[in-house]
Amino acid sequence: MTDWEAVIGLEVHCQLLTKSKIFSGAATAYGAEPNTQADGVTLGFPGVLPVLNGEALRMAVTFGLAVGAQVAERCVFARKHYFYPDLPKGYQISQYELPIVAKGTLDIELDDGHGGVTHKTIGITRAHMEEDAGKSLHENYSGATGIDLNRAGTPLIEIVSEPDIRSAAEAVAYLKKLHQLVVYLGICDGNMQEGSFRCDANVSVRRKGEAKFGTRTETKNVNSFRFVEKAIEYEIERQIEVIEGGGRIIQETRLFNPDTGETKSMRVKEDANDYRYFPDPDLLPVVCSADYIERIRELLPELPDTKKVRFQKNYGLAAYDAGVLTGSRELADYYEEVVKLSGADAKLCANWVITDLLGALNKLGKEKYVDSGFVTIPASMLAGLLKRIADKTISGKIAKEVFEAMIAGEGDADAIIKAKGLVQITDESAIISAIDKVMAASPGQLAEYRSGKDKLFGFFVGQVMKATQGKANPDAVNRLLKEKLAG
Ligand code: ADP
Ligand code: MG
Repeated sequence: MTDWEAVIGLEVHCQLLTKSKIFSGAATAYGAEPNTQADGVTLGFPGVLPVLNGEALRMAVTFGLAVGAQVAERCVFARKHYFYPDLPKGYQISQYELPIVAKGTLDIELDDGHGGVTHKTIGITRAHMEEDAGKSLHENYSGATGIDLNRAGTPLIEIVSEPDIRSAAEAVAYLKKLHQLVVYLGICDGNMQEGSFRCDANVSVRRKGEAKFGTRTETKNVNSFRFVEKAIEYEIERQIEVIEGGGRIIQETRLFNPDTGETKSMRVKEDANDYRYFPDPDLLPVVCSADYIERIRELLPELPDTKKVRFQKNYGLAAYDAGVLTGSRELADYYEEVVKLSGADAKLCANWVITDLLGALNKLGKEKYVDSGFVTIPASMLAGLLKRIADKTISGKIAKEVFEAMIAGEGDADAIIKAKGLVQITDESAIISAIDKVMAASPGQLAEYRSGKDKLFGFFVGQVMKATQGKANPDAVNRLLKEKLAG
């Protein structure tokens, strides 16, 4: 095992978030009654003509710019021929020799195995525009297959990586980064269950030090990060076993079975020749002027890596925390809103968002990054709580109690503080009177403390906090207790 190295290249199909299809006006919305979103173009009727959706082009260019790639001044749609029941035209409109995007890169972060991280750059060979195929439905059809063509014609970009990836973990890091990016860019909803973001994994193995790549297999449509990891790990082991057993790997397409964690041969891999690619005579070459590309560049949002660095710098956050908070644009915006509205310390805000808010969402079983789970506690509401910590109305400890109530839907911070009578006691005379009572009630401990048992200080703090139902200002309690206990 140790003298083998894996070589991996990923092809990601990413559905673009347009309202209508790539070459027609039919809707792309997910989940409609089968075949209600299949117009003449989708069905491949004779004589219909495809017309390129401008939004799909804009999104493909947006992606290219975000990965620092070359956006082609001129790109061409090609017909890729194959027969399948969910492809009524008998060919898929894709791009072949002249794709819209070429030569980009994506930086990924990896565990260095010692609690730190290392960085690696993965090459993106190309990204081309193409149409999605329909879907074959096998459930609920005994002895038959249903065909739903609603998905046919949905715009995709297929993002092809260089064979730069060396392990399942690297593959997952690359995919997560790519997923985060396309969602940030607003060009894909990222929903993997619905197939909006799907991956084919090309895997080969070679002995370490060998310059030539081994023969690869391609495992199709692995639709979760975990499955990608499992499928690749399985495939690496299988290939090593085959070769060590004296066999050889055949170039083939394989299918991952999530129930067994195994991959199974599906068909011998077709060659580009088999597809008889040629330029689609119904579609004009697409010309992107420098002007057009610049306009799109100006509209790019702040990208995740840039945002993360800014969060570290502007808010004084650790790399890890900045990474969590910039995991999605939604969460990053939420955090910045909390900082702005509360006027509280930025690190304190980060702790509350990461530990308390995300922790609570997690407990409630809400997906952190995808869900609209933040609606339950809008930024203004969390900010309202942090404001009361900042102005010392409540202590950090009491704030946790208020937050619990907030999660339970008991209202905003001020309402909860009022209803539960949680306002912090900062009035020194009130704290001193509580201290006096505690000292009078604990003569034994007082004597021990004064004879040098410093550890008992904590006991007195606890007693005073108890006497004030946790409401006394902790700093004041500490300071005043020290004075009083000293006698
Ligand atoms: P195809 O279109 O037939 O799938 P491509 O040349 O576009 O072929 O390559 C598809 C993917 O396979 C790319 O991501 C590429 O990096 C990867 N790849 C190519 N050769 C190998 C190999 N020997 N081992 C692993 N991955 C490979
Ligand atoms: Mg392929």
